[in-house]
Amino acid sequence: MPTRDDPQPSTREPTTAAIDTLDVVVIGAGFSGLYALHKLRCTGLRVVVLEAEPSVGGTWWANRYPGARVDIQSFEYSYSFSDPLQQDWHWNERYASQPELLRYANHVADRFDLRRHIRLNTRVKSAHFDEAHQRWRISSEDGRQWTARFIVTAIGPLSSPNTPAFEGLSSFEGQVLHTAAWPHEPVDFTGRDVAVVGTGSSAVQLIPLIAAQARTLTVFQRTAAYAVPAHNGPLDPERERQVKADYAGLRARNRKMRSGFGSELAPHPKPAVAVSDAERDAMFEERWRIGGFSLLGAFVDLLTDLRANEHAAEFVRKKIRQIVRDPSTAAALCPTHPIGCKRLCVDSGYYDTYNRPNVTLVDVSREPIHAITPSGLASGARSHTFDTLVLATGFDAFTGPMTRIDLCGRGGVTIQDKWRGGPLNYLGLSIAGFPNLFNLVGPGSTSAFTNVMVALEQHVDWIADCIAWLDAQGHTTIEASAEAEARWITFVNAVAQQTILLSCNSWYLGANIPGKPRVFMPLADGFPAYAQRCAEVARDGYAGFIVQ
Ligand code: NAP
Repeated sequence: MPTRDDPQPSTREPTTAAIDTLDVVVIGAGFSGLYALHKLRCTGLRVVVLEAEPSVGGTWWANRYPGARVDIQSFEYSYSFSDPLQQDWHWNERYASQPELLRYANHVADRFDLRRHIRLNTRVKSAHFDEAHQRWRISSEDGRQWTARFIVTAIGPLSSPNTPAFEGLSSFEGQVLHTAAWPHEPVDFTGRDVAVVGTGSSAVQLIPLIAAQARTLTVFQRTAAYAVPAHNGPLDPERERQVKADYAGLRARNRKMRSGFGSELAPHPKPAVAVSDAERDAMFEERWRIGGFSLLGAFVDLLTDLRANEHAAEFVRKKIRQIVRDPSTAAALCPTHPIGCKRLCVDSGYYDTYNRPNVTLVDVSREPIHAITPSGLASGARSHTFDTLVLATGFDAFTGPMTRIDLCGRGGVTIQDKWRGGPLNYLGLSIAGFPNLFNLVGPGSTSAFTNVMVALEQHVDWIADCIAWLDAQGHTTIEASAEAEARWITFVNAVAQQTILLSCNSWYLGANIPGKPRVFMPLADGFPAYAQRCAEVARDGYAGFIVQ
């Protein structure tokens, strides 16, 4: 039965009546889309979410490879907007697994009665701004249409899988899997000869589990990864009790952290370069024992001073050499780029996996992959035979999810044209020439560079306030001015230049995708400064925006 916010599927031009139907179309029913739906409906807006997949959950629906789990502790990587939700929900593990995170997304959809407003199996094909009616016209791949005053793109920074254009890939006669588009049936690796290409976070989680099952595993590594132990396990009930006794306080303290989490662990009062070797190593040891990203929070200068960074990097390399018994494998596993320049991996037994007799590492920076063959691949002067190829090759991050939609703003300008040289925007939220479009946790904001749950709640709350303000003032459109956009991008780049983040080839920079402009895409300024800036812009009557 169609509801008031549910236009009838139509392949015809929408009628004037249909044009008035919706306030907001949200694209994506991952964690950011679910909260956007809830929040905007709470403010009285008529909202529909269009989701390409047959389920809510976004990244936690797609990335279901064995071992997939969150790399920020679950009591911090979770919604804070509802105290009853955070009090009622029990996380089983310190770092929740993908199935548990998916259950959480489903629980939130049910608990807040969101499903009625979500259209699953609905991949948005195009979204065009209709200047005559000051509305967005959205079409799905199967020809349904919607119109709305606003669009909120909640499509995630890491939702467009990257499959390298390996010559001969289609000729491979075995099974090809991609970590970010994993089958929904379990994959049994028993007795198989498996190859994994890539050694980022996905591979680091997946490799120990495949190694334990497969006959042989060959890992093709282009850049060695820094991985720190998760020390995952059941969430301690006493810890849970403590957190829940002051959940609001913990959330508030986390929002004051640059990363949006980790407020329980203060950095050393002095920079890493200002303490003795013994004191520094003791601090790193302590953080290694605690696990996770806490290592990067040990000293304030680790991401801003290459000398400080090198101390942390060498500390992890020493650990690798201690764990991995074969010296040449250990040497190949030791990264040479600054630690934290690519996102740190949080692991469970990753390096130790290379001590297994059935696991081999191939360094494809020395022996490049020439081609995939029917029975394996050719790298350097060698050929490798296997029956299962796992591509853990990451994502076309930040811009990929947007540019795969036919997104068109004023004057027929497409997002592909607009972002040809990099993702121009203001505050990460708005794009000049694309009125009434808000992008959640995308480029230009702290996004996945911080705790994305904290980032998405701030974004959604800001957008809800902005729309309420527009409506109260009788305005119909808002969009970034070209000047504000240019200033913002200059600022985002300037911030990155003050860090070590430009000194490696990361997906933050688009450097993992051949031909992509090398632009640092997230804002590395820290969550509190960013949130304050957004709040000030709103307080100043949306300074930097054109409001009509
Ligand atoms: P990723 O970090 O981009 O890693 C992709 C890997 O594939 C890299 O090792 C890369 O090498 C390699 N690669 C790409 N193209 C290649 C080619 N043509 N030939 C050889 N190797 C190639 O992707 P990811 O592991 O999926 O992780 C992406 C992000 O998703 C993470 O950084 C994290 O933010 C998020 N994530 C989080 C978790 C979690 O723990 N919660 C788990 C998975 C993912 P180069 O480094 O040389 O480019």
